[in-house]
Amino acid sequence: MSQITEQIHSSEIGDILENSLHGKRPTIDDCIMLLESDDVFLMGLVAGKLTQNQFGKKVSFVNNIILNYTNVCITDCKFCAFYRPPGDNEAYTLTLDQIEARVKTAWDLFKIRQVLIQGGHNPNLGIEYYEDAFRMIRTKFPKVGVHGLSASEIDMIARVEKSSTKETISRLKDSGLQSVPGAGSEILVDPVKKIISPKKISSDEWLRIMEEAHLLGLPASATMMYGHVESVQDIAEHFYKIAALQEKTKGFMAFIPWSFEPNNTLLQKESTVNFGAGGMQLLKMIAISRLVYDGLIPHIQSSWLTNGVGMAQLALQYGADDFGGTLIGEEVVSCTGARSTELTSQRIIDSIRQIGYQVEERDNFYNTVCMH
Ligand code: SF4
Repeated sequence: MSQITEQIHSSEIGDILENSLHGKRPTIDDCIMLLESDDVFLMGLVAGKLTQNQFGKKVSFVNNIILNYTNVCITDCKFCAFYRPPGDNEAYTLTLDQIEARVKTAWDLFKIRQVLIQGGHNPNLGIEYYEDAFRMIRTKFPKVGVHGLSASEIDMIARVEKSSTKETISRLKDSGLQSVPGAGSEILVDPVKKIISPKKISSDEWLRIMEEAHLLGLPASATMMYGHVESVQDIAEHFYKIAALQEKTKGFMAFIPWSFEPNNTLLQKESTVNFGAGGMQLLKMIAISRLVYDGLIPHIQSSWLTNGVGMAQLALQYGADDFGGTLIGEEVVSCTGARSTELTSQRIIDSIRQIGYQVEERDNFYNTVCMH
């Protein structure tokens, strides 16, 4: 008997892991057992094997920037240190010229392949602001993919326009939006949302807007922000709501579990959450993401932004196959004082090589740009 089989047989989660090795996905109850188990190393061993079966020893990343186009927001999420109310001294909104200058610099210096566009829920911005930005980027920088706007930002634009979210997505797509990031879901369980982001769209609305995007031909990422007030049951529910939508539409390209960073947030000031979830929990979430989504959502990202490069290297052996992006210009997580919120591509390449993997640079749609 191999060492891995022996270890699996003696573990309380052994049957679940054995099933995973034979292509049988954990049920929601299995997922809760995994979340309650301390056998993180064993989960990682199996999740890492599933990942290597599919990708070999190869890890992808994308050269990108984040364009946090406005910090003006009326949604007041308790986990957010980034936003400012309309009229605040520190409020900002980038102009079209500023957006062009940032994308041009990033293209000239780094040959970026993606601009990740995220901002606050700014009631002063009509849809033309977004249409002009997307059209400009796609026309002037045709190799740069436009990955932008969370489902909740789309909902805000639709409300400003007094239009449906479907019509809004359709117009945004026509102007150059190519894919939708998974932000705004946090944990797709309404009692959790009521505590951390009571003014944000509900879980069903998030899922509906994502489904509309998928059906209109826009692929997306799915994310989860864990490590605040949620229970293991809530996390499992989140995993399986996304799985159910994916079974229907096949629209998610990747899943990214983020740990909540409490510094400078209301949740910390109110002493609801005093510290982050940490590295062990990250590895568990990455491993469970692979076990739950293997064969369903193609890519699991390493989530270096809130956990650092060293943890990302470990995550790549616990089920992640994609490092994520360089995220030049990130301003949301940096407001929590997180250590590193941008990386050079060389740093990513080096850290992938350090663990003996091949490095693939990819574009917005996970197509190979080149091998390094
Ligand atoms: S997370 Fe987004 S929606 Fe919530 S307050 Fe921050 S900027 Fe606004």
